Amino acid sequence: MSAEKILIVEDEPALARSLEYGLANEGFKVLWAETGRRALELARARDPNLILLDIRLPDISGYDVCRTLRAEGKRQPILMLTARDEETDKVLGLELGADDYVVKPYSLREVISRVRALLRRAYGELASAAPGGRVHLGEIEVDLERWLVQRRDQAINLTPIEFRLLRELVTHPDRPISRDQLIETIWGYDGDIGNDRTIDVHMRHLREKIEADPTHPRWLVTVRGLGYKFSP
Ligand code: CA
Repeated sequence: MSAEKILIVEDEPALARSLEYGLANEGFKVLWAETGRRALELARARDPNLILLDIRLPDISGYDVCRTLRAEGKRQPILMLTARDEETDKVLGLELGADDYVVKPYSLREVISRVRALLRRAYGELASAAPGGRVHLGEIEVDLERWLVQRRDQAINLTPIEFRLLRELVTHPDRPISRDQLIETIWGYDGDIGNDRTIDVHMRHLREKIEADPTHPRWLVTVRGLGYKFSP
């Protein structure tokens, strides 16, 4: 499975570093914003899977960040980091669209367990709705946990890259995913693995293995000018 991206929004470097260390240690990919404006930039550009959001920031507040992202249609879980005396802050934050909060001083263990719970709730629904984390594309069964793909009990051999590509698409049904996002999810960084066409080549191979008619795909469809989506 590819690493989930967590955006830490925290202006105190020591706190940010400890969160960064703890989350990276758990296998997450971590981004850090010191200000509210930087948080908005990173949230827009990098589309993190979850945001840890401090309320008191040097420029715009965590509330403003939360409100703005929700107004823009961003739906990733937001876990607020609040101070002990900020009871009203929690209520306001939840009203503005945050999903949960932890009170400072928090333990790293607590934050990580909340992060995992929120990620499960937000992204695990499809996998848990299907017994054993399986998704069906007609006769084809994708076992997300065991990395198996079968057509009527016949194994289909996918390369690890093809599997990651398929997994990313089927776990976000009907959601167009850009080539850049796919590249980052699959290879774990933005950089120099050639160009967008790399994804197209892997997609062509994947379709040849999955689709009844690869030139007219039923499941893995092209979103013109953007990338691909899974059409369930
Ligand atoms: Ca702060």
